[in-house]
Amino acid sequence: MELIFEKSKPGRSSVSIQQSDVPATDIDTAIDKKYLRTELDLPEVAEVDLIRHYTNLSRRNFGVDLGFYPLGSCTMKYNPKVNESAASLPGFTGLHPYAADKMAQGNLQLIYEMQQYLSNIFGMAQFTLQPAAGAHGELTGVMMIKKYFEKQGEKRHRIIIPDTAHGTNPASGALCGFETITLRSNNEGGVDIEHLKSLMTEDVAALMLTNPNTLGLFERNIEEVSRIVYGKGGLLYGDGANANAFLGIARPGDLGFDVIQLNLHKTFSTPHGGGGPGSGPVGVSKSLIDYLPVPQIVKTADGYQWSDNFPDTIGRVRTFYGNFNVIVKAYTYIRSLGAEGLRHATEMAVLNANYIKEKLKPYFDLPYDRVCMHECVFSGKRQVAESGVHTTDIAKRLIDFGYHPPTIYFPLIVPEAIMIEPTETESKETLDAFCEAMITIACEAKENPQILKDAPLSTEINRLDEVLAARKPDVCWKKT
Ligand SMILES: *Cc1c(COP(=O)(O)O)cnc(C)c1O
Repeated sequence: MELIFEKSKPGRSSVSIQQSDVPATDIDTAIDKKYLRTELDLPEVAEVDLIRHYTNLSRRNFGVDLGFYPLGSCTMKYNPKVNESAASLPGFTGLHPYAADKMAQGNLQLIYEMQQYLSNIFGMAQFTLQPAAGAHGELTGVMMIKKYFEKQGEKRHRIIIPDTAHGTNPASGALCGFETITLRSNNEGGVDIEHLKSLMTEDVAALMLTNPNTLGLFERNIEEVSRIVYGKGGLLYGDGANANAFLGIARPGDLGFDVIQLNLHKTFSTPHGGGGPGSGPVGVSKSLIDYLPVPQIVKTADGYQWSDNFPDTIGRVRTFYGNFNVIVKAYTYIRSLGAEGLRHATEMAVLNANYIKEKLKPYFDLPYDRVCMHECVFSGKRQVAESGVHTTDIAKRLIDFGYHPPTIYFPLIVPEAIMIEPTETESKETLDAFCEAMITIACEAKENPQILKDAPLSTEINRLDEVLAARKPDVCWKKT
């Protein structure tokens, strides 16, 4: 496809407006010449060509509104459009971020209520909505853990993180100055209890646990895990990015977690294509409440107000009060579904993942054959052994069948991992069609492996040199 620059013809324009009857000013005398650039080389095209160019480009994109998007770990679920209409109400979009509390009572009420809903759903004492995404929420949570031990007059240097964790977990620990140590998984895909016992000392500030973990498996020994961590005075951090698997069914607060972060842009249905915007609320138990970021919203006789009056706070982690529009969408999702609806969403998400797991089990290696939660993890090991076809080839071939590939090569403990998260909104017909495509690909791998190695065949560009694209990205067009 031609670039917009290549479509350019000198003198062509996207506007035709009448000659101005305002006398022209001599630009050379009006402003300092050094600010004038002459060699801009902007494309010159007619309006219709401009519109077609970008519309055609957008049609080459893929999103959850176009087709099935079974990306594991990073819930890419369908976002009901009612969330968008609520978030675009002028009272939300038009408010100045510096507006006085008195003039923003409705918006403050929404934030306040959202904190309460989340506290109820997750069984935590209090939430902050300030962090901008999951990883930022983790950082905020670990900062609070650090402050907690400072206040206790204790110096702890380590954080334990399972080998299935998302890469942001060790990054958040390290950013706060902790040494991160890796906890092995057992052959069931859960925490290796003996290994945890050997790692858990009085130098460990916290265990950062994702439950269900990134294998889509619920940690069966969670009570014992928390006993071991508490036994040495440590805290339990919960990575809540997989909350789509337990809304209305289990509450991290009841399971013993002291702090969790959520990803509203995953679990609570707000679009985050291209990486943002997100929202990463952090919930804490009573023991960490004093360290929450400021400002915090308080309800007084005069209405809702922001307050900085929390002496032990870790301070501010973001300008203003978080990604407000994302919060409005998540709030709308919670209000429109209600408690029953949230629980039903989770039940369907888990049912759909297990349906796919059972249907594909005869064709792909399933390293942990247990009832899964919201996602299931296969391995492409069998295909590698049989025909030298790798997981990446399977993923690329799925594009030709009209599906976004699932997450691959994660979690790291599964060789040739293929991680599928169907989410709750997909119909049985969609799941069946996807499984059919996967089964066809498994057959192709045996009979015609070359077609997988050449895939995708239906796209503008086939395979990028991913290393070169990451190390030396060439994104600049130069006139020749
Ligand atoms: C997505 C994800 C994160 C990071 O969240 P971001 O919003 O992308 O920063 C952390 N942990 C898990 C398990 C995740 O899936």
